[in-house]
Amino acid sequence: MKWPWTLQPFIFYPQGGGQNGDQGWLRAGAEEWTVTGTRLDKASGVVWHAVAGELPPVDTQLSGEVDAHSRLRQMARHTGEHLLAQAFARINPAFEVAAVGMRGPDCTLDLRGSPSEADAQVAEALLREVMVAGPLTLETQLVPHTELGRYPLRRATPLTGDVQLVIFRDTAGELFDVSACAGTHLPLGNLAAPVTVLGLEHIRAGLTRVTFRAGPEAAEYLGEVYRSARALAQGFNTGVAELPERVEALRSERDRLAAEQSRLRAALAAALVTAAPVEAYGPVQLRVLSLPDAGLLPAALSEVPAGEVRAAVAGERCSVGSGVPELDAGALLRAALTVSGGKGGGRAELAQGQTQQPEQFLAEVRRAVAEKASWSYVCHSRR
Ligand SMILES: [Zn+2]
Repeated sequence: MKWPWTLQPFIFYPQGGGQNGDQGWLRAGAEEWTVTGTRLDKASGVVWHAVAGELPPVDTQLSGEVDAHSRLRQMARHTGEHLLAQAFARINPAFEVAAVGMRGPDCTLDLRGSPSEADAQVAEALLREVMVAGPLTLETQLVPHTELGRYPLRRATPLTGDVQLVIFRDTAGELFDVSACAGTHLPLGNLAAPVTVLGLEHIRAGLTRVTFRAGPEAAEYLGEVYRSARALAQGFNTGVAELPERVEALRSERDRLAAEQSRLRAALAAALVTAAPVEAYGPVQLRVLSLPDAGLLPAALSEVPAGEVRAAVAGERCSVGSGVPELDAGALLRAALTVSGGKGGGRAELAQGQTQQPEQFLAEVRRAVAEKASWSYVCHSRR
């Protein structure tokens, strides 16, 4: 991006105040340059235009066209921001704006006073009522800063000199919102409808971020959400309104099935453990299992009784459980993995890992148990 030259007077609105700069086109005869952004140099008052590609030669006479599509969306975001901030302020004057963001479709209002989800719903409804009651007209006035005290400004301004006031009046002619602002706004506040709060987030002490959409970006989003919800509902043979109930029923069913699966796994694992032949190595009993499902491993390896060691594989998963204090499950697993390849670890009672050679893993556990058990037996016998 280049910021090499200036245009003055400008028709493109520069980036600032949480709002994007205008985009559009500059033309000279048949030639056209795309403006990708604009910025204001506050010191000189010059608006710098960034253009894609090569620059027009110096002294070229240009005409400019603002991208109306993106500008209208920007105006809707900004208008929605004023009106929603005012709606929050009317619910509770403590809900003051600390910062705003309007650079993307998801706009933000950072509010003091910790508004809740319920407050947001009330603010949204209040604004909807004002908007359906009649025109919410925009007027702008240049007012010397010394006279600002005569206006019910929603937010104090540090500006001096002549300050631009952006005023929205309701259908009765009453002031709805008065702000010092130099941004771009829609001529009718109603055109920013719908203004929809998407969510609230506590961002730091005393500051809550309200995310919202306004105007066409809100309407498109709500339409998309509805279409997704309808497709989901059709998949469940129900209506959109019944979705929460259907999802709740499915959640209960899922929990019931999970509990049942857990019980069945435990029963199957117990049966497989009982069916596995017991191999005796001195005082140690070894059970070796090849399980059909890795989900059975936890149940098959839990509560290994005293005097027993269990080794199990399921696919590439492997596990060792030990009820013999002298035979550490973690040490047995790691020793077997050293030969069979793989990785894993664990505690003295239970260890888990993965190997691509499950049969070799089991053979190595068997060999290690046989060796260590007879050594342990010899040691015990000598005592
Ligand atoms: Zn504004």
